[in-house]
Amino acid sequence: MIFTASQQFTTLLGLLTIVPAGHGAVCFKLEDMVIYVDPYSATTDYSRYPKADIVFFTHDHFDHYDTKALEQLVTPQTVFVGPRCMEQHLKLIKTLNNGDTFKWKDIEVQAIPAYNIINKKPDGNPFHPKGYGNGYLFTFGDFKVYIAGDTELIPEMKDLGPIDVAILPKNLPYTMSDSQFVEAVKLIGAPVVYPVHYFELDKEALEKAVGEEVKLIYK
Ligand code: ZN
Ligand code: ZN
Repeated sequence: MIFTASQQFTTLLGLLTIVPAGHGAVCFKLEDMVIYVDPYSATTDYSRYPKADIVFFTHDHFDHYDTKALEQLVTPQTVFVGPRCMEQHLKLIKTLNNGDTFKWKDIEVQAIPAYNIINKKPDGNPFHPKGYGNGYLFTFGDFKVYIAGDTELIPEMKDLGPIDVAILPKNLPYTMSDSQFVEAVKLIGAPVVYPVHYFELDKEALEKAVGEEVKLIYK
């Protein structure tokens, strides 16, 4: 079953299972609630996954808003949350822009900026302009999970407070370089980190760079 390789964490709201579902996609299971972020069918066969109670979108690039994945996960009861750019695609129960907060069941969610500073398209615009997409900070009672979205290392990462699990992207030119990734891990200070969104990864070098006190978990 899909949850065999996944990690479980005890939170005040119950047992939290985190399943890194390929590329930027993550599945959270909190007791009997199923939460997806950016489900993506190109990297994951969702026919084996539980249906979604709620889906969060970081932004609407094709590798984050994927209707094929949604077809397999969505029921008439599934609700959607995302930034303003998602309003043209889906009916959202809540639009979350950078800085906004939202409470679903007992889970608190804050939208964190996600953007490029260095890497730009040939026309000079960043791949992800500030304000377009979100990262999310989920608070499951006393347990905080930060999923960064498509972002480079940004100053907002140092103001997140104590984080238990960080889910961070690594690939150029859209997100973080190897050295930015390592710097972000240190800035955020989470003891558990899931690298996501990468195409190639030198696990040994990465583990050495972040240090023994950080546990890296891969899909
Ligand atoms: Zn993107
Ligand atoms: Zn992406």
